[in-house]
Amino acid sequence: MTDLPMIDAQRLWDAHMALAEVGRIPGDGVCRLAASVEDKAGRDLFARWCREAGLVVRVDRIGNMFARRAGKDESLPPVLIGSHLDSQPTGGRFDGAFGVLAGLEIVRTLDAAGIATTAPIELVNWTNEEGCRFQPSSLGAEVAAGHIALADGLAAKDENGIRLGDALEAIGYLGTADVALKARAYLEGHIEQGPILEEKGEAIGIVGGSMGVNAYSVILIGREDHTGTTPVQRRKDALFGAARCIAEVRALALDFEPNGRATVARILAEPNARSVVASKVTFTVDCRHQGEDELNVMTGRLREIIERISHECGLSFTMEPYWVVPPRSFDATCVAALRSAAAALNLTSRPMVSGAGHDAIPIAAVVPTAMVFVPSRDGVSHHVSEYTTPEQLAAGCNVLFRAALELAVIADPVAADDAATR
Ligand SMILES: [Zn+2]
Repeated sequence: MTDLPMIDAQRLWDAHMALAEVGRIPGDGVCRLAASVEDKAGRDLFARWCREAGLVVRVDRIGNMFARRAGKDESLPPVLIGSHLDSQPTGGRFDGAFGVLAGLEIVRTLDAAGIATTAPIELVNWTNEEGCRFQPSSLGAEVAAGHIALADGLAAKDENGIRLGDALEAIGYLGTADVALKARAYLEGHIEQGPILEEKGEAIGIVGGSMGVNAYSVILIGREDHTGTTPVQRRKDALFGAARCIAEVRALALDFEPNGRATVARILAEPNARSVVASKVTFTVDCRHQGEDELNVMTGRLREIIERISHECGLSFTMEPYWVVPPRSFDATCVAALRSAAAALNLTSRPMVSGAGHDAIPIAAVVPTAMVFVPSRDGVSHHVSEYTTPEQLAAGCNVLFRAALELAVIADPVAADDAATR
């Protein structure tokens, strides 16, 4: 497949910049909350581009969009390529957009070169990946994977009490297609959202799986006392206990670097009054690791930390999981296709494990899946300054292009050779 054409880097960049005008906010960012009017405008633009490329667009009952390029053998399930077009409230131009627009660029490249594939190729835009307007994140993909019932997904409410189903209907994207997914493979390109590729000077992350998550809501219970009259040694200070826990969670995290993470990111002290010793503190601890055994060891040590500190501070505690996801391995064939594509293109690459959530993670449970990461400048994402160069996007798209062709199989090698030498 060495004679395959290259994708058009300028066309790919131009598509990103055109999409970035939709829901644009100051500082080069975008705001396209799921099922908002801005999301509708982004979806409309994507659908128009797909139809102009001759793709057949359909929308399923949770609003996921699919755009199909027919294969020579229409009885085969398609190779899916995509990601998400929704964003954080102060999001950047590349998170999600890259995976969708890379798919579009792949189709445009195939068309320009006159290449037919045996299996169909379908582009996909999953609904509500970001999880900031409706919870949980990757809701459209979770429903498609059968992990969340359609009715429950549609009933998810935003902070104003608006149901996802109603919001999708209001923007014209509550479709009628069946949510059940049947695909030969799923490939997702995404910005790394971390600093590793840039730091190592490498072009491509070949993502072989995702970290498991054990996340807990911890509550420490002490006693309210007057801050002026109660000697420190007589207090049952829940906030002091929480502070000690936070410091030890950080030490725990450092013990499990580089393959694990542990974070306290949210805390609520009660009564949160200036002159009252805190009697109740609620905080989250988010533990992640790519190995199931290591994740369990982390969780065991976390429980030991909370127990010991509670005891030493005279507190009682509860520790309830609010988010549990096992580590997932992506499909070996898909990963190998991406790896050999990067090698054929002489691109530097490294195996990676995703620490962030992505649509590919639920989809991997039902469809052979793999992901490609491209570098994020300074590791920044979910921020208006998020940036990846046109060349870096093009490199990732070329890897996806070759891997997609390997998985969808070129139907007519002669035609492909002709196209390559035209
Ligand atoms: Zn994303």
